[in-house]
Amino acid sequence: MSNCRYLINSCIQNQTFDILDFRTKQSRKTRSYHVRCQNSFEQTLDGENGGNRKLKILIAGGGIGGLVLALAAKHKGFEVQVFEKDLSAVRGEGQHRGPIQLVSSALAVLEAIDESVAKQIKEAGCVTGNRTTGYADGLSGEWITKFDLSSPAVSRGLPLTLVICRIALQDILLNAVGLDIVRNKSKVVDFLEDPSKVTVILADGQQYDGDVLIGADGIWSKVRAKLFGEREAKYSNYTSYSGVTNFVPPYIDSVAYRIFLGLNQCFVATDVGNGKIQWFANHKEQPMSNDPPEGTFLSAPSFPLPSLCC
Ligand SMILES: Cc1cc2nc3c(=O)[nH]c(=O)nc-3n(C[C@H](O)[C@H](O)[C@H](O)COP(=O)(O)OP(=O)(O)OC[C@H]3O[C@@H](n4cnc5c(N)ncnc54)[C@H](O)[C@@H]3O)c2cc1C
Repeated sequence: MSNCRYLINSCIQNQTFDILDFRTKQSRKTRSYHVRCQNSFEQTLDGENGGNRKLKILIAGGGIGGLVLALAAKHKGFEVQVFEKDLSAVRGEGQHRGPIQLVSSALAVLEAIDESVAKQIKEAGCVTGNRTTGYADGLSGEWITKFDLSSPAVSRGLPLTLVICRIALQDILLNAVGLDIVRNKSKVVDFLEDPSKVTVILADGQQYDGDVLIGADGIWSKVRAKLFGEREAKYSNYTSYSGVTNFVPPYIDSVAYRIFLGLNQCFVATDVGNGKIQWFANHKEQPMSNDPPEGTFLSAPSFPLPSLCC
């Protein structure tokens, strides 16, 4: 806690910014912080030479979280720099890397940040919130429960939930943030704090100073490890496989996706528009296990395969 408080304090020196309340909440697995401030964040800092300079926000990681934050901060007038270790993974380079469901509230946040980006995402995505979705029995295909994605959105005037390819989403965000802001091949390995700045250290030895550092570097975050201590990511016992299939099921107009549940496995297939179905399968297996070259045959369902696909 003291580390985090120190980091926040060190980043806001010279600003009209008072912490009114700082509380920490520890549950079995996570620790969260509640910070209440007197004024909204000022965009500028008084430079030592009398001029104003923009607050500089450094972000480790250019995935969905880092890019959305960078976009919001850029629009708020902050100076932003994102350090991404491998942009080819963000862009996909021909890999689809599974579907992302953007629920109504997430879309509303994106609209508030950048209407043009939200519009591009809606155009690239496929609305699923207007059709039946839910859990189904993996063997019989019978519905177990259905999600009502529509009426909560309509009653609040929010956009309908959609599904978009993760790579398409990241591509739109990356273009909007700009390659001048997102640095490729920039793996964050450490950072240093002093009362007036934070310094990011990259794997190639380069160092960058800023006022705030945000760790958006994913499940193996270096920033989190340094702030809160090194903790191994725990394998969930499930490995996820995903793919895209050119297929339009006959019930596409009424069912957007179904999550088929089975023993130690589940299969999800969702309409992503343009005659394509994106699917992912979560399967219980040993960590880092490899399939033989010919693949592994799992027991086949007892109903016709096309009915699996949505
Ligand atoms: C199978 C699956 C399905 C999912 N479906 C959904 C869904 O439908 N809807 C939804 O909202 N969420 C979904 N999620 C969750 C969602 O993917 C995550 O919440 C989201 O990706 C987290 O974004 P992030 O930017 O925090 O981290 P990440 O997406 O993991 O991005 C981290 C980025 O940091 C980079 N990086 C890592 N280490 C460093 C370093 N040291 N220096 C610099 N860069 C670094 C990585 O290359 C990466 O680009 C799903 C997740 C999975 C696994």
